Amino acid sequence: MQHIITCPHCHTSSNHGVHVCVGCHADVHYGVPKEARIAAFIAAVAGGLFAGSRLQFTAGWVVGGVTLVAGLWLMHHIFCDRVVFKPMYHTRHE
Ligand SMILES: [Zn+2]
Repeated sequence: MQHIITCPHCHTSSNHGVHVCVGCHADVHYGVPKEARIAAFIAAVAGGLFAGSRLQFTAGWVVGGVTLVAGLWLMHHIFCDRVVFKPMYHTRHE
C-alpha cells in the first residue's frame, strides 16, 4: 500500500519517501527531529552525571547509556510517522 503525503505549502501530493516536494521544491524530512536527538543526548549526559556524582562513576555511565538508548528508542516510536516539509522561501538572498 502506497502512503501518500501532502505538502502543506502547495498542497501537492507525493509518495511517502520523496525528499523534495514536486510542487514547491520544499525539503521533505522524516522521523526524529535533530533537536529531539540532542535533547535525548543532553538528558543522558545530565542523568549520567547526576548518577555518577550521587552513586558511583560506573553507575553514571550505565544510567547515561540506558537513558540515551531508551530516549532514542522512544523518540523513534513517537516520531516514526512524522513528515516535515521545509519550504524553500528561507533561502538566503545574499
Ligand atoms: Zn510543496
